[in-house]
Amino acid sequence: MDSYLKFRNVRGTKDLLPEEAELWRWVEEVIRKKMEDYNYQELRFPTFELTELFKKSTGEDTDIVQKEMFTFKDKGGRSLTLKPEGTPSVVRMYLQYGLYNRGILQKFYYIERMFRQEKPQRGRYREFRQFGAEAIGSPSPETDAELVRSALDIFNELNIHGIKLNINSIGCPKCREKFIREFKKFLCSRLDSLCNDCKRRYSTNPMRILDCKIDREKLIDVPVPLDYLCDDCRKHFSGFKERLGYLGINYSIDKHLVRGLDYYTKTVFEFTHSKLGTKDEVGGGGRYDGLIGFLGGDETPASGYAVGLDRLLLLSPQRKESRGIDVYVITLDKASDLTGWKLVNELRDSGFSADKDPLGRSMKAQFREADRQNAKWAIVIGEKEREGGSVQLKRMETGEQKEVPLNITTIKEELKC
Ligand SMILES: [Zn+2]
Ligand SMILES: [Zn+2]
Repeated sequence: MDSYLKFRNVRGTKDLLPEEAELWRWVEEVIRKKMEDYNYQELRFPTFELTELFKKSTGEDTDIVQKEMFTFKDKGGRSLTLKPEGTPSVVRMYLQYGLYNRGILQKFYYIERMFRQEKPQRGRYREFRQFGAEAIGSPSPETDAELVRSALDIFNELNIHGIKLNINSIGCPKCREKFIREFKKFLCSRLDSLCNDCKRRYSTNPMRILDCKIDREKLIDVPVPLDYLCDDCRKHFSGFKERLGYLGINYSIDKHLVRGLDYYTKTVFEFTHSKLGTKDEVGGGGRYDGLIGFLGGDETPASGYAVGLDRLLLLSPQRKESRGIDVYVITLDKASDLTGWKLVNELRDSGFSADKDPLGRSMKAQFREADRQNAKWAIVIGEKEREGGSVQLKRMETGEQKEVPLNITTIKEELKC
């Protein structure tokens, strides 16, 4: 197709045509509205950060840092990276601007582009869009449940059904120590049979072995963090489950769920959908009580999640009402054309979306265009109307039509009905 075209978009990027851009805009509106209903405030952050920020917060032994980052040197020799996820930047801003001074609890959301060098496939791009939420300052499982509910609420508002919630607890550094000891003891004799990544993880970040897709079957009887939780972590997990119960939210416990990122503690969760195939994850998150202290702030509990919008949109969100323009003005002769054009501009000044045909096409073609534009109203002006100082106002859905004076105030009143 069009093989003479010299330029196409780069593999792993996505163009949005007008109808897609409109869908995306609506999806973003839904997210903003919902997150603000939950009292989260929007943050926007730069496209790149110091590479060190991601190495420290995402973690050296994650797939993101090991394999997927777009890293480059600037002219001063500093290593920069296109942001592969949102949490590190949110935490950086929280610390840099002293946002903790604004109150003990700070809740943020973002809708941002992210960059990862993954193998491009359906719904997975190298430049992709994510929304996420972070609640900083609350240790309570109530906050974890609130985050989960806000995401489910957004899926629901987008008319996306069939998303499953999996949850787990991976404990705190205290109870994890004991778990890791038992876990490593168990794996010690089987290490040879594990994949190369897991062999490395065994010494760098053993817990990550739990969610290895390749070795899944070999890990069925392995010790899991859930069985080693300390009292505090166990209580926290019960609290989380209890809150989900109160909210009527269904979930499954996946004892192998650890999430790819190093900084999670206690609660982890993910959203999946069977329509997305083997990599069926739409998004997920969890608690990261250790990260803010680790990045140089005071020890501060925090929790959050992120959802990949490109993947979410594969699940065909349906808006309840379809949108079109308010008025399409149809003119039947040259003299009416100028009258119509003035009217279009008056309509726009009055807050209506309006358009007309600039090509002098036939009435039939103009009506077809009005249909195509999904116009709520058509206003028809011909010689007869022009001489009588009126227009024909047609409601496109029902076809009912009436003559009204050519006067923006009267027309405005009629359009409001
Ligand atoms: Zn614990
Ligand atoms: Zn493995």
